Order: sequence, then C-alpha cells, then structure tokens
Amino acid sequence: MPYLRVRYPCRLVMVEQLYWELALRHGDWTVGTIPIEKNKRLWCHASEGFLGMLHYDLPVYRPPSEGNNLILQATLGCSHNRCTFCSMYKSKTFRARSREEVFADIALAAEEQPDTRRVFLADGDALALPPDDLAAILDELAVRFVRLERVSCYATPLDLNRKSPEELTLLRKKGLTLLYFGVESGSADILARIRKGANPDKIASALGLAHDSGIAVSATVILGLGGRRLWRDHIEGTAALINRAPPDFLSTLQLMLSPEEAGTFVSRFERDGTPFEPQDDLGVLEELHLLLSRLNPPRPVVFRSNHASNCLPLAGTLPQDRDGLVAIVADARDGAAALRPEFLRGL
Ligand code: SF4
Repeated sequence: MPYLRVRYPCRLVMVEQLYWELALRHGDWTVGTIPIEKNKRLWCHASEGFLGMLHYDLPVYRPPSEGNNLILQATLGCSHNRCTFCSMYKSKTFRARSREEVFADIALAAEEQPDTRRVFLADGDALALPPDDLAAILDELAVRFVRLERVSCYATPLDLNRKSPEELTLLRKKGLTLLYFGVESGSADILARIRKGANPDKIASALGLAHDSGIAVSATVILGLGGRRLWRDHIEGTAALINRAPPDFLSTLQLMLSPEEAGTFVSRFERDGTPFEPQDDLGVLEELHLLLSRLNPPRPVVFRSNHASNCLPLAGTLPQDRDGLVAIVADARDGAAALRPEFLRGL
C-alpha cells in the first residue's frame, strides 16, 4: 500500500478516507484532486517505493506551515473541545493513542522517510499527554529519525499550565521545540463568551511557561471575535496580553463561522443580551490597525496576517516594523490598497 503525503495550502488540512482510496493505486505516481468542501481542494500523491500506510483517525488537521512534514497522531480529538467558534474535533472524543500504536506509525514512517526532519504531533492538543508519555514519543522519534530537527504540536493553556517548568524543559531537551497555541483574544469577557476555558492571566502564565522552558510558541488571535459591539475590548485586551507575554510568532485569523457552529457561537455570545453583529472588512481593518498600533512587545515577535481568512496579508517583525505595518493597514482601510478577494479566502 502506498504512503500518502498530503498537501493543502491552508491553515487546516482535512484528510478524507477517499484520499487513501486514491492513493491505493499501485506503482507510479498517483495524482488527484478531490473536492472536500466548496472552493477547497486537496492534492495528494502516493510516492514510489512505498512500504505502508499510516493509520489516521479522520479528520486530521494541521497548521499550514506543517504541510511538508510528517503528521503523526499521538492523540485523537481535543481535550477541551468546547470553543464555540471551532468545529474541528466535534466528531471525536478525546483520547491518547496507545504507545504501541504511535510507535508502530513512527516505525512505518521511518522506513518510508528516514530523512524526516520535522514532525507534527496531531490531533488537537498532543501536549495534553502526560509528560512521560510525550517524552517516550520524543525519544522514539529521535532514535528513528537521525536528522530530526523539530517536533511540534498544538497546545491549550491548560496543557501548559498543568505542567511544571521542569517537565516542559525536559520536553524541550527531548526535541519538542514548537507549540501552536490559540490565544484568540486577550479580553476576559470574550474568552468567556467563546468558552476558551482560560482567562487572560492563565493564557499569560501558559505563554510564560513555554518561553521559560525554551519552547517556541506560534500564537493566533481572531479578528472579528467580539463583533461590532465588543471589538475595542477584544483588541485592547489582546494587545495588552501580547505585550505582557509575547509569543515568538503571532498571526491573525479572521472569524469565519460554519453554519454548524454559528448558532452555538451567537447564542453563547448573546447570553447577556449583547447582540453579535459581525464585523465587515472595514471593521476588521480597524481592529488590525488598533492591534498593531498597541503592540509593543519587549522582545521580537514575528507577525503574519497571511492566513487565507485574512482580507489583508501582512508580514513583519514587531516592534521594529510596527509603524510600517500600521501605515499599510491605514492605506487599506482608506481604500488606497486592494484587499484579498472574497473568493480567495477560507479556513
Ligand atoms: S482548544 Fe483549539 S481545537 Fe480545542 S476546541 Fe478550542 S480551538 Fe478547537
């Protein structure tokens, strides 16, 4: 059976069983495109000389920057799974995969791709694993992939806060070098409305623990999360939180709700009678303008708003590039710069 490599030019990748079927063609390259939802396609191929197939529990998601890397499921689902804007793991019950299952996947992947340098541990928050289990997986990866440079995974605030500095430092020494972390907002009110399961203090504490242990953090915030009513609180709180506990990388997403999660999101948001009025592009640019204007982190933060959901792609390092980025956003807000067309946006 072929080993399947999946590429998807977006923040999240969803792998469907059909793609395995496509890849099961024997022999030379098998190339195909299959629609997974409106306007989205996933490209896949099976390489020559395959030895086997990893066993994925679908759907599988990964950050866009992990698109060329080995994806291994250490856990299934998300240990929190309550955020009202997120539908990624609603079909799964969180559990850790057994050590035997994970090691079998590692062995298979090592036979197929012994030169692997980067590994992403799925699903929603592999950092939820007990430190000993995660350390054992990191040790096995180091043994099987002699050229390994980076292991990364998603993490929640709780995952970080319930680990000691010593445990995190040990995981870093064993090769866990990057965490993807959803800040979403620095406003206590917004975080409660979206059921993030953490307040700004807990998020700052989690980011501080990661930083002190030497594990880099790539964090995301979601523009539009407070709607037109609460946008200022959302952005002022977010800027204050990032200045207080800066991640290494920061990127913005733009709120996009699927029909399945929109009802839950809005009803939870409106629980105190505050209506949720979605931001339009102008409102989002106003948020981005205020956020960048307020960001003054005490150490460099690589900033990106190049995710496909954003109406205005930006890239720079804060605080040194802040004034230039603010000027670009002001131009876009005033109509002097083009925005990404709607049909090119997505999650
Ligand atoms: S912690 Fe992340 S994966 Fe889990 S529900 Fe929230 S946004 Fe989704």
